Amino acid sequence: MLGHSVASKYTQLVSPRITDLTLPQPLFGLNRAELSTLLAESGEPAWRGTQLAEAIYRQRIQSLGEITTFSKELREWLLAKGWNVCRPRIAKAFRSLDGTERYLVEGVAGPETVETVWMPEGDEGESGDGSEEENPGRKDEGRGGEGRDWSRATICVSSQVGCAVNCQFCLTAKLGLQRNLSAGEIAGQVVAVLDRQKVEMGRDRVNLVFMGMGEPFLNYENFMEGVRLLVEEVGLSPQRMTVSTSGIVSGIVRFAAEPTEIRPKLAISLNAPDNDVRSELMPINRKWPIEAVVDALRGIKLRPRERVTFEYVLLAGVTDQPKHAHAVARLVRRSGLPAKINLIAWNPGPGIPYTMPTAEAVEAFRQALASEDVPVYLRRPRGRDIYAACGQLKRTVES
Ligand code: SAH
Ligand code: SF4
Repeated sequence: MLGHSVASKYTQLVSPRITDLTLPQPLFGLNRAELSTLLAESGEPAWRGTQLAEAIYRQRIQSLGEITTFSKELREWLLAKGWNVCRPRIAKAFRSLDGTERYLVEGVAGPETVETVWMPEGDEGESGDGSEEENPGRKDEGRGGEGRDWSRATICVSSQVGCAVNCQFCLTAKLGLQRNLSAGEIAGQVVAVLDRQKVEMGRDRVNLVFMGMGEPFLNYENFMEGVRLLVEEVGLSPQRMTVSTSGIVSGIVRFAAEPTEIRPKLAISLNAPDNDVRSELMPINRKWPIEAVVDALRGIKLRPRERVTFEYVLLAGVTDQPKHAHAVARLVRRSGLPAKINLIAWNPGPGIPYTMPTAEAVEAFRQALASEDVPVYLRRPRGRDIYAACGQLKRTVES
C-alpha cells in the first residue's frame, strides 16, 4: 500500500473525468518528505527521497529512466506501482516580436491547457519593490553576454484554469472558472519554462509573478503548496516572487500568517480611485471594499525595504484622469503602508468594452502620482501581439 498521505493527495489531484487507472500517477508535485514516504515502502532509506526530489526539481528529469542514481530495479518498482514523473508539458509556444513567449501548458489533473508567459527582460512590474536592493551586487550579473538574449527574465504563472472573479476589463474572466490547478501544475509551469530556457539556478536571475490566469487566493492551499515546492525543492527565492490578488481578504489574512521564508511579495489589483468605480469594474469590491483590503494588508509583517504593490489598470476615460491619480495618491497615503503603484495601460481583448488610454494620459497620470511623492512605475506591455500581456490570457490554441 502507498503511504496514506501520498495516496490521498493523489486522489485529490485527479478530476473525476480523467480517473483512469491506466494513467501514471504524478511524482511531480510531491515534496521530498512525501517522496521518501513513498520509497520507504520498497525498503529504501529516506535519502532516496532527497535524490528523487533533486532529480525531479533540480535536474528536471522528465522520465524515471533519466535517474542514473537509481537502480533499474527501483525504477521498475516505481513504474510497476503506477508512478512516473508526469511534469506538466509545454504543448504549444507563441513567440512575440519583443521576445516574450506565451506557452500553453498541459495540465496533469485535467485535459485543459493553461497559459504561462516568459518575459526575457521582465516587464518593469518588479521595479521598486525591494528586490533590486536586496542583492545589489547581482544587478547586471545575468548571462546576457553569453549567447543568450536575456539577463533578468520574469515568468508569469497561472493558478487556475479561467477565473470566477469576473473583472469587467479582463479576458480571462470570459472563461469563467473551469478548475483549480494542483500544486504540481503550478510549480510545473515554472520548471517546464526553466528547462526550455536552460536556466541555471544560482546563476541566472529569474523572477516569478503569479499574475497569469486565475485568482491565486481562491486556490489558496494549492497555490501556497506550489510556492513551497518552488522555494524548497526548485530553489527559487520567495523575495523574487510576487503574487497578485484582486483583493480576496480571507486569503490576505491567511497570507499574512505565512512565514517569511516562503512568503512571496504581494500585489493588489486596486484598479480604481474609489469604491464606486471599483465596484463597477470588479464586482468582488462589493464583498471586500478597499478599506477591508487595506486593513488586511496592515496585518502583513513586511521585510526590510519590502513594499506592497498596488496595480492600477488605466482605462481611457474611466480610470485614467488626473483627478483619479490624485484620489489614488490620497488613498495610498491614508493607508500608511509602504507601497508603490504599478500602472498598467489596459490591453484590449475581443468583446471587452473599454478603450486603451493614450500615451499622453498614461504619462500625465504617472506624473501626477510622482508629484505627490507616490512611488510609481509603468509596467511595459509585453507580448501584446501574441495575446500574452496582462489580462489577455485565455486558453486559445488557435490564436
Ligand atoms: N487574478 C489576479 C492575478 C492575475 S491578473 C488579479 O486580478 O490580481 C494580473 C493583473 O492584470 C491584475 O492587476 C489585473 O488587474 C490586470 N489586468 C487584467 N486584465 C487586464 C487587461 N486587459 N489589461 C491590463 N491589465 C489587466
Ligand atoms: Fe480574475 Fe484577475 Fe482577471 Fe479579475 S483580473 S477576472 S481576478 S484573472
